[in-house]
Amino acid sequence: MIYQTGDTIVALSTARGTSAIAMIRLSGPLAKTIVARFFFTADLKPVDLSKHSRVARFGVIAHEGVILDEVIVTVFGMPHSYTGEDVVEISCHGSLYIQQRLLQMFLGAGARGAEPGEFTLRAFMAGRMDLSQAEAVSDLISSSSAVSHQVAMKQMRGGFSEKIRLLRHNLVDFASLIELELDFSEEDVEFADRADLLALVDRIIAVVTQLVSSFELGNVIKNGVPVAIVGKPNAGKSTLLNVLLQDERAIVSEIPGTTRDIIEDELVIDGVLFRLIDTAGLRTTGDVIEQIGVNRAYEAMQRSAIVIYLFDAHEYSAADVKGDLEALRPVIGSSHLLPVANKIDREDLSSLESELSDFPGILFISAKEKRNIEALRNRLLELFDSMAEGTGDTIVTNARHAEALKSARMALEKTRKGLTEGLPGDLLALEIR
Ligand code: GDP
Repeated sequence: MIYQTGDTIVALSTARGTSAIAMIRLSGPLAKTIVARFFFTADLKPVDLSKHSRVARFGVIAHEGVILDEVIVTVFGMPHSYTGEDVVEISCHGSLYIQQRLLQMFLGAGARGAEPGEFTLRAFMAGRMDLSQAEAVSDLISSSSAVSHQVAMKQMRGGFSEKIRLLRHNLVDFASLIELELDFSEEDVEFADRADLLALVDRIIAVVTQLVSSFELGNVIKNGVPVAIVGKPNAGKSTLLNVLLQDERAIVSEIPGTTRDIIEDELVIDGVLFRLIDTAGLRTTGDVIEQIGVNRAYEAMQRSAIVIYLFDAHEYSAADVKGDLEALRPVIGSSHLLPVANKIDREDLSSLESELSDFPGILFISAKEKRNIEALRNRLLELFDSMAEGTGDTIVTNARHAEALKSARMALEKTRKGLTEGLPGDLLALEIR
């Protein structure tokens, strides 16, 4: 889509629907003029908004002598606004009728309905934020857990950009020095110390590598840690799922473009979002473990970072469990396998417990009586923490950034190779660029 940028845009900034208060926002050269046509003091005197900036005013919106609502109008004169243009925000009562009428009036007076993300696009175009910050705005709005919120907030405030800007700056300095040498090629001088450059390239490769590997975690933070619960029919999978989801179901917004595939099976534990992968298909396929290679369990486990293997402690012997775990290990790849014995309320299990003690991290729970569920939650959190280990404080959550970083790393490695092989300056400079 090609966006016009010289015109004035308008949109409802709060969620659609009835609410106590709603907010409509305009941005562009006519923002003040358009609103001033309909905005009056409480005793219906016109208000000249043209000189206003960083001001909030109480008044009424009226059209052809009929008062529509009492509102607060906030004026941000350019360039001191989100978009860098004149911005006017109208806080009105959140009736659908009022919202619609206001939008109609502003559209009729020359504003254009904004496309999704267009205010942020303008902020980007005006240099108010860089692309990574603009992208973080949408992540921030759709964040549904404390951790994803923190990562987005940090990125929006420029932490990520700052880190990259510094590295880029160092490299460009070096490239310039090398390019300068080319102007003096007859004299055979070296302005750029090759050993220093090599050290810098190594340092940057290390940082970029850390950023690239943080993406796996970043993705998990943004979209939720994928968890599959597998086990034979009647092991208690649905019961456990319900217990887990009962109190902690994630609140997921329905902002266009942010809806996820599965919204019913997400839960937040201590600020971390977990996505329980639907294994509903597994419940009807008979023996899950034996059919691993062919049924959907296979696919669900491949997509999971954590696989909870649930079994009925009452029905199962230690040998059964061992057999299943051995069968599962190759299937789940690098995911974490978490064996959980269920239905401990049914009888004395001390013998099974001791038989299974050589399985590290096995948990004994009762889904039905909600026993030891807290331990299971804690274990999920521990596994998340172990994924986060070794990641620096900047976490890449955006696929485009991860790709860009990967290609940067490739160029850096070529530069490194060129340096150690004594590649001529002009070719080196090319790689660095
Ligand atoms: P699924 O087939 O793995 O999804 O198993 P369900 O969740 O449908 O449970 C199968 C049966 O086991 C149901 O009758 C549950 O009430 C029962 N059940 C589940 N968890 C427990 C538990 O912790 N203790 C006992 N005694 N029964 C349980």
